[in-house]
Amino acid sequence: MSNCIFCKIIDKKIPARIIYEDEHALAFEDVNPQAPVHALVIPKKHIPTIMDIGEEDGSLISHLITVANKIAKNKGIAERGFRIVTNCNPESGQTVYHIHLHILGGRRMHWPPG
Ligand code: 5GP
Ligand code: ZN
Repeated sequence: MSNCIFCKIIDKKIPARIIYEDEHALAFEDVNPQAPVHALVIPKKHIPTIMDIGEEDGSLISHLITVANKIAKNKGIAERGFRIVTNCNPESGQTVYHIHLHILGGRRMHWPPG
């Protein structure tokens, strides 16, 4: 999608600190980290919100979780613990309408979340 910032990162039209890439997924460091580890995992397919995920996307979504787990392991937070967050629509705080998993870790997480 031409005006989507994450599609532009996928197309390398804008720079990002990419930490993982394969045919279907990309992961990069969040530009405004909220924890010592804050990475984003995105599908290369443009899907605006998690409400737009279809049955046909099942294997893609499970792949994103697998990528997130690999990153958690590589970043050394898998055993300590980490959080995967995905925001959906305005009241959640979603600002980029291309689905993404936030991987947050390296500090104690609070509950309930803000
Ligand atoms: P949301 O608010 O939609 O759940 O999360 C969007 C995330 O994308 C935010 O954490 C924000 O810091 C990050 N972000 C927005 N624009 C860019 C960008 O151009 N590059 C990178 N690396 N992260 C971005
Ligand atoms: Zn997009």
